[in-house]
Amino acid sequence: MSISKMATGVALALLLAAAGLAHDPSKHKGRATKGEVVSVAGDRLELRTAAGLKAVTLNEKTKYERGDQIAAKADLKAGEQVTVFGTTLATGELVAREVLLEGARKAGSQKSGVRSQKGKS
Ligand SMILES: [Zn+2]
Repeated sequence: MSISKMATGVALALLLAAAGLAHDPSKHKGRATKGEVVSVAGDRLELRTAAGLKAVTLNEKTKYERGDQIAAKADLKAGEQVTVFGTTLATGELVAREVLLEGARKAGSQKSGVRSQKGKS
């Protein structure tokens, strides 16, 4: 194997590793809407915020993150605490650009619930 082939392989590996990580949290701009997931149905997420129920629209551009890891829409579950960054339409509806899941490292402060370990790797 030539040196340049190896270098290409290393660069590719680094690229792949980086792809699994979310970007710098400081890149989150705009108003954050925090709340608890009430339900997820199709492209609609219903959130219970301090100000009441809020409809959030998800689309193919919405990104999901948990800590510094990329998450998926499938990770959105009722009861999950999330922070949504997005655009609020005139209708009051929030179109999510990013959904940050916050269930990662909570040490037993929650009421005893189902402990779901996601073992897929
Ligand atoms: Zn982000």
